[in-house]
Amino acid sequence: MLDEKNFLPLSEFNQLRQELLELCNKLLAFLQSLDPNIAIISVRIGDPLFSNNGAVTIPLNPKDKGVIFHEVGHALFAKSVFHLDRNDCWGESFAEAIRWLMEKEYLKNTDWLLNEFEKDKTKHGHDKEKAERILRRSGHSVDGFKRYWRQLIADYNTTDAKRKATFLDDTITG
Ligand SMILES: [Zn+2]
Repeated sequence: MLDEKNFLPLSEFNQLRQELLELCNKLLAFLQSLDPNIAIISVRIGDPLFSNNGAVTIPLNPKDKGVIFHEVGHALFAKSVFHLDRNDCWGESFAEAIRWLMEKEYLKNTDWLLNEFEKDKTKHGHDKEKAERILRRSGHSVDGFKRYWRQLIADYNTTDAKRKATFLDDTITG
């Protein structure tokens, strides 16, 4: 739970600020159910950014509330064992997948991800394609994502070399 004094301080958009704080705390509860050590120290106004120390900035845009989910969502991958080993190559994709799941749950907004990666073939589009892959493996559900994440951790920690080798493999589709 993020203390209100650290969430968009001095913001004049009080209703939007309140709504974003509630969305942020719903996401934090979800992330902390997967990793109790996750903490966000502050959310301030700025370009969309997550810092590894847990400081987040977002633009204050009533048409893009989901940005809070993406930036705060970065905390899960960034705090995980995967971030150290993989140099964040899946970080963007997990942030997008988390955003999609939270938007589906709390904003009833689900169409954007598929549409966007279909038309965007750049690195950005590739991140979105991988996000869609994460969602497929999660059955496009919050509970499925929890199972998938815990499975990834188990696969990472396994001594079975074959399972370990397939962990988050970029070349594996489906
Ligand atoms: Zn990002």
